[in-house]
Amino acid sequence: MTEPFVEITRREEFSAAHRLHNPRFSDEENRRLYGVCNNPNGHGHNYAFEVTVRGPVPRETGMVMDLNRLMVLLREEIVSQVDHKHLNHDVPWLAGIVPTAEHVAVAFWKRIEPRLAQFEGCSLRRVRVYESRDNFADYHGAGA
Ligand SMILES: [Zn+2]
Repeated sequence: MTEPFVEITRREEFSAAHRLHNPRFSDEENRRLYGVCNNPNGHGHNYAFEVTVRGPVPRETGMVMDLNRLMVLLREEIVSQVDHKHLNHDVPWLAGIVPTAEHVAVAFWKRIEPRLAQFEGCSLRRVRVYESRDNFADYHGAGA
């Protein structure tokens, strides 16, 4: 019998500041586009993100991967880098992008995906970034 494939998800939280502003647009256009998130000195969000990994479930272990190892990976690659930081100024791998939830989800994917190679058969399926309880963005990887 072949092993069933299952998706598992780990959620993490962090707090950070950002400002949505594209210098290519006028100040007025930026205010219109981004509203309160264009505040000149930035503002904070209590972010959360979810990372979903798909893989085979060996009968012997019953696990796609150890969720504690996924937790450690996410805290190393993401949480320790962004928690209590200003996403526009303090995080080198977010430099030069407008830090919307969409862009942040793609940037998280790029950091997490290479680290999953060590887990045989596992693949990254989704990165979901919550900017607030009700607003979130999903990224499923290039071409998806
Ligand atoms: Zn904001």
